[in-house]
Amino acid sequence: MSIVSATTRVLKAEEIGHAPHQAPRLLLPDPRTVFQQRARRLAYLADGHDLATWLLFCHTLSLAQGRLVERVQIEDGEAQASLALTLTKRSWGYWQTLLEELVMATTHHLLIPKGQGLTPEALALVKTLQTWSQAEWQIQAQALLLGEACAHAEALPFLGAALQAEWTLRASQLPAETHAAYQGESAVCPVCGSHPMVSLVHTGDPNHGVRYLVCSLCQSQWQAARAKCTNCDSPKEVVLLGQSAKAAIQGECCEACQSYVKLLSLPREVQLDPCADDLASLGLDVMLEREGYGRAARNLLSVY
Ligand SMILES: [Zn+2]
Ligand SMILES: [Zn+2]
Repeated sequence: MSIVSATTRVLKAEEIGHAPHQAPRLLLPDPRTVFQQRARRLAYLADGHDLATWLLFCHTLSLAQGRLVERVQIEDGEAQASLALTLTKRSWGYWQTLLEELVMATTHHLLIPKGQGLTPEALALVKTLQTWSQAEWQIQAQALLLGEACAHAEALPFLGAALQAEWTLRASQLPAETHAAYQGESAVCPVCGSHPMVSLVHTGDPNHGVRYLVCSLCQSQWQAARAKCTNCDSPKEVVLLGQSAKAAIQGECCEACQSYVKLLSLPREVQLDPCADDLASLGLDVMLEREGYGRAARNLLSVY
């Protein structure tokens, strides 16, 4: 497959800066649905995919995230106006519960549908992670939160999954004024300060055709209507590169900083899921990097 320049842009030049007035600038996540939808989409995408084993592993992880947010409740009064990139007194509990969920889902395999458990190798890894001391986990988890190098690459998806579950639940409990207070466009998540995972063009009212960046950590989405690089301040518009001009997933590539963020278009494919489709389109990452662009976004379930 070759990369061709797409013919469409996020918004036409005359629309830049004029996203529909009624479109909310900030969308907070719904933890009751975000992980279940992701898991369903991963199972669908895994069918016949070159990376099926990996996608089914992420499917299992997403199901465990969904059960985790159901099990954990945040006490009244703990919700804050914004979320810092610092571990909380509850983070260790999320980590332990996630690992417990993964072991239970696998060892009680008669109780769960086929394909929802871990492979023997992944189960052995989880059991190793369960032996980590709180101090060791703390160093690795805090490094991941801050985007620093982690000494245990194989642990990254598990660390990321537990942090995502906690931050998503916390983001969902932010006060309603948080929606109204956010006014600007930001390169990082206005809720938690983490980097985006992908950008997503919505479909349907009230934000049809509006582009949002999706947070890699708390799953909030913030408006990024302008067709410019979300990584640097270059005033130039991004170039969209994909596997075909009509592809629902393209790379928004910036000539100024030589980076890209994937753009997922729901008007083109309504079933797209930000995390699942990002993971399943690894081939596009490889192709864009061959073209000389570096990824300016991260996916906490990926070791890529
Ligand atoms: Zn966030
Ligand atoms: Zn740029």
